[in-house]
Amino acid sequence: MSSKGSTIYELDADNQICHIGGDWDQFLQANIDQHQDYVNLRKRQVLGNKLESYVHDANTKMLLQTVFDYVRQTQKIKALPYRCDSADQKRFMSMQIEPLADAGLRVSHTQLSSEPLDPPVEIHPANDGNAETVWRCSICNRIESEQVWLEPDEAAQFWCRHSFHVSYTVCPVCMNTI
Ligand SMILES: [Zn+2]
Repeated sequence: MSSKGSTIYELDADNQICHIGGDWDQFLQANIDQHQDYVNLRKRQVLGNKLESYVHDANTKMLLQTVFDYVRQTQKIKALPYRCDSADQKRFMSMQIEPLADAGLRVSHTQLSSEPLDPPVEIHPANDGNAETVWRCSICNRIESEQVWLEPDEAAQFWCRHSFHVSYTVCPVCMNTI
């Protein structure tokens, strides 16, 4: 992974994306998997949209809103560690949320480190309902197996599978920690 720069955007009081800085397009190329619509996430398409429109599950939306409310109320910076794994890399990220004037927020995403994901694990979004779908935590990237949350490589070994169809949520550990 070469892209270590931060990606920064600013939200207004309604969580509308009103400014984008940093290596946005480069960040997308490195972090968005091929199943997502890369073209629609380029800078000029994203400005003016609400951040929520890019978060697809209710639990992650709720968690982000809770963090945003906290920062707006306390006027304190909050850092939220999370994972943004690729098929063969565990990527340890930090999302920093900083209060701005008029209930605005500045959000920075930075990659802290990475390590190989061995064996590699392919993640596909649940779509057609044909494949067996499992839960994946949008914060720590762990996968649920019979009410146990496993690292992707552990889940692959446990189930002898190298690809999963996932629906996103927030696991109980991340929900309680944040
Ligand atoms: Zn989690």
